[in-house]
Amino acid sequence: MTAVLISGASVAGTALAYWLREQGLTPVVVERAPALRRGGQAVDVRGAALRVLRRMGLEPAARELGNHSVGMSMVDGEGKELMRSEEFALSSGALDSEDIEILREDLVDLVHARTHGVEYRFGDSIAALHQEADGVTVEFEHAPPRRFDLVVGADGLHSNTRGLAFGPEADYISHLGVYLSVFSSDNYLGLDRWQTWFNDGAVGGTVMTVRRNAELRIFLGFGSERPIDYDHRDVEAQKRLVADNVAGLGWEVPGFVERMWKAEDFYFDAMAQIKMDAWSAGRVGLVGDAAHCAAPLSGQGTGLALVGAYVLALELGRTGDHALAFARYEERMRPFVEANQALALIDRQKVDPEESTARMNAVKDAIDLDAVPD
Ligand SMILES: Cc1cc2nc3c(=O)[nH]c(=O)nc-3n(C[C@H](O)[C@H](O)[C@H](O)COP(=O)(O)OP(=O)(O)OC[C@H]3O[C@@H](n4cnc5c(N)ncnc54)[C@H](O)[C@@H]3O)c2cc1C
Repeated sequence: MTAVLISGASVAGTALAYWLREQGLTPVVVERAPALRRGGQAVDVRGAALRVLRRMGLEPAARELGNHSVGMSMVDGEGKELMRSEEFALSSGALDSEDIEILREDLVDLVHARTHGVEYRFGDSIAALHQEADGVTVEFEHAPPRRFDLVVGADGLHSNTRGLAFGPEADYISHLGVYLSVFSSDNYLGLDRWQTWFNDGAVGGTVMTVRRNAELRIFLGFGSERPIDYDHRDVEAQKRLVADNVAGLGWEVPGFVERMWKAEDFYFDAMAQIKMDAWSAGRVGLVGDAAHCAAPLSGQGTGLALVGAYVLALELGRTGDHALAFARYEERMRPFVEANQALALIDRQKVDPEESTARMNAVKDAIDLDAVPD
């Protein structure tokens, strides 16, 4: 049985583990964090991704855990409402659609639970990859070396696997000039299944209710023309960076910053895209953000990860020839990825939610999940 090492246990990694096992392959997952990671804003599952979730039998549970937003408003720095809609929300699209908006961590928990029995190694990371004609010998930071038939990087925007097999991140990343932070607080604003977007010059963000109004997830972003050099593991320094960049702003921002300092699930990253000419090199492939991060503003990063994991696993299951499978996966996914990456380049603070929804709907299904190769 083909043994596949997957690096990363978030949306792409857990979904790939599920679908590989369904195809009769043997996935093993290594995740750097000590457990499944918490944190982040709600993500959207729509179109082809929703059909993948349905095929995993997870649609009812995801719907149950979902956000159920009933509307959004946009405010300026004084808190003055500039617009409101009970039909559309910028991140969720049409509110009466079948799309599911769900916390990333809740979605990952659901998919992970469906991979019961798969070997997960938490708290470790790939240190080196040695490709040979008939396999890959993998060195780990902690575990002893081990041999696999294939390795797939599902380790996100700053993919370790990509760095080891394809070269430095700088060759593939394009920054969109925005940094974002996401963290939780209690629903001290008393919002009711609501999203409020705010824009105060170069700084913007969203606050939305999650978990049936019990919590707020606050998104604070700021612009920077140049990439910022920061320590990816120093959370206090990242919080300081956010606090400094939003200092002096109006509306609820001071209250948000106060809560950010206490938040235990703080997430910080650059808004950026990954563009590569190839998503495989020999026996090593990439899936999800590692291959083609679309950036949170696309609203489609999670969808691309779910669909990519499905397509890659099915192609690997169809043939024993990994090079052919990687090529078919890429051929099928690339147009879908490019159409969805383009969504992030729309300035959603300035675009009408109805128009933004129409653009998302035009591409959310732009892939044939059941295509059979000639
Ligand atoms: C904590 C967190 C919060 C997020 N918040 C948001 C958000 O608010 N809005 C949004 O649009 N997107 C967010 N994202 C990104 C979003 O999950 C992805 O864009 C999308 O779902 C595709 O997922 P992915 O599995 O490809 O990558 P990711 O979800 O980024 O997952 C990558 C996984 O790889 C793991 N990893 C990283 N390095 C290594 C390594 N060396 N070895 C092993 N494992 C490694 C990470 O810990 C993580 O579990 C967040 C991601 C994370 C991890």
